[in-house]
This record gives sequence, C-alpha cells and structure tokens, in this order.
Amino acid sequence: MLNKKNLNHLERKLTDQVLIAVTKYVGNEEVRSLLAAGINDLGENRVKNFLEKYETFKADDITWHFIGHLQSKKVKKMINKIDFLHSLDRISLADEIEKRRNKPLPCFLEVNIANDPNKYGLKPENVLDFYNKIKDYDKINVIGFMGMAKHTDNLAIIKENFQVLLDLKNLFDQKIKDNKVSKLSMGMSNDFEIAIEMGATHLRIGSFLYEEEYNGFI
Ligand SMILES: *Cc1c(COP(=O)(O)O)cnc(C)c1O
Repeated sequence: MLNKKNLNHLERKLTDQVLIAVTKYVGNEEVRSLLAAGINDLGENRVKNFLEKYETFKADDITWHFIGHLQSKKVKKMINKIDFLHSLDRISLADEIEKRRNKPLPCFLEVNIANDPNKYGLKPENVLDFYNKIKDYDKINVIGFMGMAKHTDNLAIIKENFQVLLDLKNLFDQKIKDNKVSKLSMGMSNDFEIAIEMGATHLRIGSFLYEEEYNGFI
C-alpha cells in the first residue's frame, strides 16, 4: 500500500528534483495510488514486470524510467516503450539500442560509484572514454550519470560515493564544450536526503513509499 505520509514527507524535501517512484516491489493498486497522488514518473528494473505494467496502464500518462540492468537480447521488446534509461553501461547495449530504437532515447550512464565488483556500471575512470565512443549515436542522448551508493549508515561513505558523480560532471564540463551531460540520478530510500543536498536531479525511491514503518537509516 502507498504510504501517503512518507510520500508527503518526501515531496516536502524536494526542491526541483524529479521524483521517480520505483514500482518494482508493488502491484497495480499502488501504481493507481501513485497516479492518483500525481506521481507520473515511474521506475522499473525488470523487463517482464515493466512490460506488464506498461500494458496495464497504457491509457495513463506515465513517464517510464528503466532503471535496472538491461540485457541486450531484451532491448527489442521494450526499448520503444520507455522514456528514460538509467543504466547504459556498455557499448554492446548502446549498439543494440541504436539498432532498435526509433527515436533518440535520453540515457544516464550508470557508474559503479560504490566500487563494488558485484554491481553493474562503468568504472569512473572509463566514463569519459565510453561517452566519446557513443556520443554520435543517433538514438542515444546522454543526459547524465546514475549511481547507487553503498547501502550503509555511514554518511561519509555515501557522500564519497555520490561525489564520484559530481566529479564526473565537473570533468565533462572541463573536457566537453557546451557540455549537456549534467543530470544526476542518485538517491534511494536510504540516502535521498544526502542526494538532494549534493545536487541530485532525479531520485529513484521504492521501499520508503510503501513501508508502514520505514526501517532505513534516515
Ligand atoms: C530498487 C531500486 C531503487 C529503489 O530502491 P529503494 O531502496 O527501495 O528506494 C533505485 N534504483 C535502482 C536501480 C533500483 O533497482
């Protein structure tokens, strides 16, 4: 069930960030409640669940964000149904999107900011190189960076992780004339307050919106 109190709390914290309600844990009832509450930016991380919700809510005005790891073989069936991709992390995926998408797709480059070998994402030191390889693709419009901080109650570590994205933005500003890669997709239930403080433009929030008593760290 959508926790209206938590949603209100979250909305009061927003300055001008886009709030993406991650619906991966919940069903159609919660999607309806979100839409009724005026939240139209929704995020899914699995192709199958995304396609189910996409079909169910086809008539509604939803901006769909795909936020999870995307296998190249699944691109064909979903890529023309999404509005934003937050997980562009390899050339083979960029190539497949270039082939299958019918108009430019706004994309975030996913960066492994927690430096976790079990997580997806580009290594920070490879991001500029990667961008230069795909910047002329017609169907890919890189608008920013996405990262997931380590799940910890250590605020210093969370800040250090998010700082990697800020540093990348600065690097791009220095290296690229009229740089437009400027959006920061960072901040989840556990760390959105820090993300807002540090300049996030897109928050991806799941569990906090639905839990009766939120047991995260903040
Ligand atoms: C699940 C998920 C979120 C939301 O996580 P919560 O901690 O439930 O807010 C955000 N981003 C990605 C990529 C996710 O997979």
